Amino acid sequence: MSEVRVRIAPSPSGNLHIGTARTALFNYLFAKKNNGKFVLRIEDTDAERTSQEYVDNIFDSLKALGLNWDEGPDVGGNYGPYTQSQRFDIYPKYVQQLLDSGYAYECYCTPEELEAEKEEATAAKKAYVYSKKCENLTEDEKARLRAEGRKPAIRFNIAKAQAAFHDSSILEFDDLVKGKLHVDTNLIGDFVIMKSNGAPTYNFAVVIDDALMKITHVIRGEDHISNTYKQILIFEALGFEVPRFGHLGMILAPDRSKLSKRHGATAVSDFVKQGYLTDALINFVALLGWAPSDGQEIKSVDEIAQDFRISEISSSNSIFEYDKLKWMNSHYIKMLPIEELKERLKPYLTQYPLNELSDSQYTKMVEITREPLTLLSDITNAVPYFFGKDVVIEPEAQTETLNTEVAQNVLTDFVNKAVDWEWKEENLHEKLADFRAYWKETAGIKPKVTMWAVRAAITGRTCGADMVGILEILGKETSLYRAKKAIKVAV
Ligand code: GLU
Repeated sequence: MSEVRVRIAPSPSGNLHIGTARTALFNYLFAKKNNGKFVLRIEDTDAERTSQEYVDNIFDSLKALGLNWDEGPDVGGNYGPYTQSQRFDIYPKYVQQLLDSGYAYECYCTPEELEAEKEEATAAKKAYVYSKKCENLTEDEKARLRAEGRKPAIRFNIAKAQAAFHDSSILEFDDLVKGKLHVDTNLIGDFVIMKSNGAPTYNFAVVIDDALMKITHVIRGEDHISNTYKQILIFEALGFEVPRFGHLGMILAPDRSKLSKRHGATAVSDFVKQGYLTDALINFVALLGWAPSDGQEIKSVDEIAQDFRISEISSSNSIFEYDKLKWMNSHYIKMLPIEELKERLKPYLTQYPLNELSDSQYTKMVEITREPLTLLSDITNAVPYFFGKDVVIEPEAQTETLNTEVAQNVLTDFVNKAVDWEWKEENLHEKLADFRAYWKETAGIKPKVTMWAVRAAITGRTCGADMVGILEILGKETSLYRAKKAIKVAV
């Protein structure tokens, strides 16, 4: 059997979509599983919607997800170029071959004429199919139309190709995911394969590229099923081997509509900006249509690859549960080694003078604040009180805690006692424990109430990270300064 070769073929008309990332992953897994090759092809034939910024985003996002390609625009390979706009000189030869063999014909219809045909179909409540008006133009008729200044587009002759390779008008193929699928080709209009300006259309370029790049399996979204029928006929008409196709169910938003920006992030780079880890993202998208045999959902790409079977992919749509992704992300954040987490958090801490903390203080800060993080970006709001001399007191901390008599008494005592404490973690642990015990025994104040007072004064909040760690990082001077200030400002 020939080597398995699959591809991901994004159009750079936007940043890499999370759905494309899933398609890329399933192709990547299929290649891995079969010792095959994973190819990246950039489909930039639509010059108006294409930009280099999006191409770069696609490269960066796929790399960040660990979906490294064996062949592609940057790494090359035996079947390049891997960017469609650089392949324009390849396509005309195949258009000519189809014209010569009668599987394609020149169409001189103007946009206005085509529009009129469409309107007629709409008025008659019929699905529009091109009239084939230009199928049998004579050379004289063509010359006359050219003389009018018309330039022909080239259309593929569906009925002719279907009749040559199939017994009836029904075209069937065996989908790797969905099983047998078929269409009545009478319902497919003769579509344009090359525009009048010489640009190939998607359905044509994709066939030539897949054939010349020796792609054996085309795995993509089910929104392409209607294209697949057209593409199969072009493969056949050109005498190319038809690859196997597999169509994945769509990814829907929790409200069952098409996943779009109004539901949240959709581009991989936006998820990353929001503080999702790429390991969590890739694990999450793997579960959109695929389920691990052992029920264990947290898995690395390598572990998924071992367990992955394309035939077991669900053919139905999947729901993109943002909450589940968040849960998974918090899990991956917990698993990150501290040094890596410290680095990953830095982009979300740029508003703080991080250089005021020593490395060990920064380590400590991350250690004591990491537990509740769902997104890396959650760190931004978790740490303001670690910086500067003064602290912003949240209204709730002021009214519920600092304004109480108990808190005022506790803080006055805290300032008096703590000034003599040795400001080291173990000692602070002990001293704070004694301090709580003292207030419990002498005034019946619950330990947590005592700590609320200290926390509210020093962090301006009613809850947060481990208090000993906070005191240690802030140091004695700042801690006592804040405690004193809370006494003064309280009413
Ligand atoms: N450029 C197409 C897209 O982004 C590729 C479709 C295909 O895989 O053939 O939808």
